Amino acid sequence: MPILNQKLKELTDSVIGHMTALNDATPGCINLAQGCPEHDPPQVMLDELVKQAQGGKQHQYAVIFGSPNLRKCIADKYSPIIGKTIDPDKEVVIACGGTEAMMAAVMAVVNPGDKVIVFSPFYEIYGTDAFLCGAEPIYVPLVPPAFDFDPAVLEDAFKQGGVKAIVVCNPNNPSGKVFTREELLLIEQLAEKYDAFVITDEPYEHIVYKPYEHVMAASLPGAYERTITCNSLSKTFSITGWRLGFTIAPPEITDAIRLTHDYLTVGTASVLQEAACAGFTLGQEYYDQLAADYEAKREILCGGLDEIGLSYSKPNGGFFIMVDISPFLEKPQFEGWTDLQFCEWMVGEIGIAATPGSCFFAEPVNNLIRLQFASNEETLKESVKRLAKLKKYL
Ligand code: GLN
Repeated sequence: MPILNQKLKELTDSVIGHMTALNDATPGCINLAQGCPEHDPPQVMLDELVKQAQGGKQHQYAVIFGSPNLRKCIADKYSPIIGKTIDPDKEVVIACGGTEAMMAAVMAVVNPGDKVIVFSPFYEIYGTDAFLCGAEPIYVPLVPPAFDFDPAVLEDAFKQGGVKAIVVCNPNNPSGKVFTREELLLIEQLAEKYDAFVITDEPYEHIVYKPYEHVMAASLPGAYERTITCNSLSKTFSITGWRLGFTIAPPEITDAIRLTHDYLTVGTASVLQEAACAGFTLGQEYYDQLAADYEAKREILCGGLDEIGLSYSKPNGGFFIMVDISPFLEKPQFEGWTDLQFCEWMVGEIGIAATPGSCFFAEPVNNLIRLQFASNEETLKESVKRLAKLKKYL
């Protein structure tokens, strides 16, 4: 057999995917590993989907860089937030989920040999995107429990030279950190000083808990010109399976993203793009309710963890909790275990699939597991009951 792509030897399967496969192979197990809403999308979107599907006009290729209707919805929504009129024809690309948006963005700006700064912990794809483009990911720690970063350490990373971009996931998956305006300003200023792009990933923008507020990096003074906003409709409208992501960036950068996106996918499902437009008719009450619903879910899971007496970091945004499993790993029964072994054990013993924290860290972290709380309240209440079984191992 001819030799396969040698770069892939350095990659492993996605750990979230591995835990989900294990969950699916275990009857009755609850998947708190893969962050995925269990509730339905807004009814207006489902109605529109039926209408579009039966209308017969949206079953062929969409415009490569996205349906004009959906691009207009996005430009109309984000122009006031960014504080600048976004041209839907020149500054927006619709991609196959936030994942493709990120890859298309990284491919658009990175050359082989460049460096890309990624905050650690990080969602699995960022380092891989850079790596697949021949770039080197450089990790800057977000230090628990508040997951703050040291500005001097960040500047040192830029000072190495050759940094083409920094990736900022805000709110952060998996830590639940919501970056402050000051932090984002500092990142943008450093990016300007060292002539790098800021690539954001903001799918949890509407899942932020008071008093925290989501600030778009692209909205900061002077930031727009070097910022590529990547986002997705997956979490905002509970449509992770529709695979609708998008980028917003100045025209010249958008031209480059259009190219990479074209060669990657020739566009995303036309019927779904048209149906998604209905979501943009929903007002502020929809977004407020979404955040309130997630806050209630967060309280259920945090309440359960309090009951067991486990420490965890309460997220300010997003729907993930990082739980400290050190008290278990100190027991003889779990001596020498990795977090992955612990998660695999939990599937069989507790009936809950979790994600081992180590897959999110560049540093050797073995004492955290990630639980998602996008499931329905009933599922979360049942999860809490099951997690209580952990008590007897303490
Ligand atoms: N973004 C979601 C998570 O972090 C889903 C990721 C995935 O399925 N790879 O869980």
